[in-house]
Amino acid sequence: MNKKLRIAIVPGEVCGGCDMAFVDLHRNLIDLLGAVDIVFWPIATDFKEEDVEALDSIDIVFFQGSIRTEKHREIIEKVAEKAKIKVAFGACACFGGVPSLADLYALGEVIEEVYLKSPSTENEGGIIPGETVDNPYGILAPKLVDMNYKVDDFVDIDIYIPGCPPPKERILEAVDILVRYFEGRADVEKGTVIAGSRTLCDECPREKPEKIVIDKFKRIHEVKIDPNKCFLAQGIVCLGIVTRNGCGLPCIKANMPCRGCMGPAPNVYDVGAKLVSAIASLVEIENEPKLSDEEIATKARTIVDPAGLFYRFTLGLSRLIRVVKKK
Ligand code: SF4
Ligand code: SF4
Ligand code: SF4
Repeated sequence: MNKKLRIAIVPGEVCGGCDMAFVDLHRNLIDLLGAVDIVFWPIATDFKEEDVEALDSIDIVFFQGSIRTEKHREIIEKVAEKAKIKVAFGACACFGGVPSLADLYALGEVIEEVYLKSPSTENEGGIIPGETVDNPYGILAPKLVDMNYKVDDFVDIDIYIPGCPPPKERILEAVDILVRYFEGRADVEKGTVIAGSRTLCDECPREKPEKIVIDKFKRIHEVKIDPNKCFLAQGIVCLGIVTRNGCGLPCIKANMPCRGCMGPAPNVYDVGAKLVSAIASLVEIENEPKLSDEEIATKARTIVDPAGLFYRFTLGLSRLIRVVKKK
């Protein structure tokens, strides 16, 4: 390619893991830097908001993180206007990610807990985001939006690269597609997801019994986990049934159940709803006709924090929670 691609990496509500995913490309990062000019990446160098105004065109923007403040929204919308290809990078940008779990609570409760009540909070002046201009640092704390948003709630996204953070192989795959696109050798179909097109279970090598019966759900520290047997068959919730494959199964290989960071598998529209129906069919299916509703409910209650577990990365996709929250 003659001309280097101009890329921007724009953070919203992030933890830094998605930036580390670029750094973790190791020697591939050197090849990447040979093909691109990074024109905006605040976590790596000293870019300021006015640098966004000064940018002319951008070939590719990678949006990282969810949108939690008015300022996140303003900046991503400004950058999106200047970018030819817009990429949602990581579970937070694609599905709302872990920050969306805050939407299980009212905004006022979240603010009170985080800024005033949590044991690690030091906030003598009781500064609340968006409400205080005059604080000891002379900073206007950014105003929060009413809930946590995924990036495509505000910006039309061309490519999604899921994962928390996205796996190295998927990042390189996306870069390859994008380089070929700008060379006129490949098309980019809007909404392309850089991942597999099956479920994680489809490629999981663990032994799956023909029939799984779960009497009681357990947490990982409560049992000695058999590294060769399906987690569900051991009574441990694993989101592999509803999760898109393509991560390379790092958790499963490390003897940990899947928590769903690659997002919903094709044809799964609400991870929690699908998981509830899948799991319900496993709870004492043989004895179920003999169980009372209360007995079934008691068994289901052995799942600790089901909302946090089922929607750890994808609550931002749940229509149900959005309707409830907006009301
Ligand atoms: S997707 Fe994961 S690694 Fe990336 S910003 Fe969100 S929490 Fe951090
Ligand atoms: S539920 Fe989890 S452990 Fe079982 S087959 Fe699917 S991915 Fe593997
Ligand atoms: S196994 Fe599940 S949680 Fe782990 S990286 Fe893959 S999709 Fe994410």
